Amino acid sequence: MIAISNLSKWYGQFQVLADCTTNVAKGDVMVICGPSGSGKSTLIKTVNGLEPFQQGNITVAGISVGDPRTDLPKLRARIGMVFQNFELFPHLSVRQNLNLGQVQVLGRSEEEATARGLLYLDRVGLLSQQDKFPNQLSGGQQQRVAIARALSMDPIAMLFDEPTSALDPEMINEVLDVMVGLAQEGMTMMVVTHEMGFARKVANRVVFMDQGRILEDCAKEEFFGAPRSERAREFLARII
Ligand code: ADP
Ligand code: MG
Repeated sequence: MIAISNLSKWYGQFQVLADCTTNVAKGDVMVICGPSGSGKSTLIKTVNGLEPFQQGNITVAGISVGDPRTDLPKLRARIGMVFQNFELFPHLSVRQNLNLGQVQVLGRSEEEATARGLLYLDRVGLLSQQDKFPNQLSGGQQQRVAIARALSMDPIAMLFDEPTSALDPEMINEVLDVMVGLAQEGMTMMVVTHEMGFARKVANRVVFMDQGRILEDCAKEEFFGAPRSERAREFLARII
């Protein structure tokens, strides 16, 4: 579903990604972890073309992300992305947030979009909040709306960038529970997170990055059992 091969990227002189290669099959749940500044956010942003890259290849469902002929907005519409800071439109109600992309990007009617949006809003347990504005919701609720909004676009894969790291501790689980449900239903997911409980529960693959390199790319059992690199062992010892 997602193939990343020999990917390198520089910001000016600074190499942020160095020869990264990994693959995500349909239904895979890949957890990406590693120290701050190791290139995790940059890696997942390159997947949906939010960040350009200089070397290597990325294909999503066979479509080459780096090819200048690729219609990136169209590709992006099929890949759900959830960020640390929710990124809901503050001036739109929850229902309007859910409808906007469906109407403007997918060309759905308002009725169709509302039906679809409310289905997913119900799924994240927030049907009763449809007329609220983002600032009237808690952080955990806003993030669940962001997930529902992404799902209402019928994505072929979902990318998450530290979706719970801006949340108060008591709200982390309500968001992780939604993500666990998605994973168990077979959604293809790349998840940057330090929530190792989540990784242990639903990941089938764990990637560990350091200084722009993928140092570990293995089955969850192997990662938690016996990581190969000293850096990954140190990292695990610190966060678990
Ligand atoms: P992570 O998500 O693992 O914390 P990032 O992908 O955000 O890491 O960043 C990796 C490195 O690239 C960091 O050293 C960061 O300072 C640098 N970086 C990120 N974005 C930019 C940018 N737009 N310009 C220059 N350097 C950047
Ligand atoms: Mg990051």
